[in-house]
Amino acid sequence: MSSTPGLKGKLGLNVFKESGKSHIRIREGKEKHPQLAKAVLVCPAGLYSQNSKGEVTLSSDGCLECGTCLIACGRELLDWEYPEGGAGVQFRFG
Ligand code: SF4
Repeated sequence: MSSTPGLKGKLGLNVFKESGKSHIRIREGKEKHPQLAKAVLVCPAGLYSQNSKGEVTLSSDGCLECGTCLIACGRELLDWEYPEGGAGVQFRFG
């Protein structure tokens, strides 16, 4: 049996410090845009989800700040910025 942790195990080693406001926001009125559904597929942390109405929602707690969702969806759909200093992810992969 392997002692190497999987992706979820590695993500569980990260530490996240909330800044009090989300550093990524879906632009108002764009929640059902077809392009936004790509974020659900590509976010490595699984922070996007799509509900039964076709609306995409985001919980940025646990964001890896990789920028993949921004590349997939663009600034027309996402208001994306790094968290303010001292907040955000701290990697501890060791
Ligand atoms: S920056 Fe990366 S981890 Fe954060 S929400 Fe976008 S795809 Fe997910």
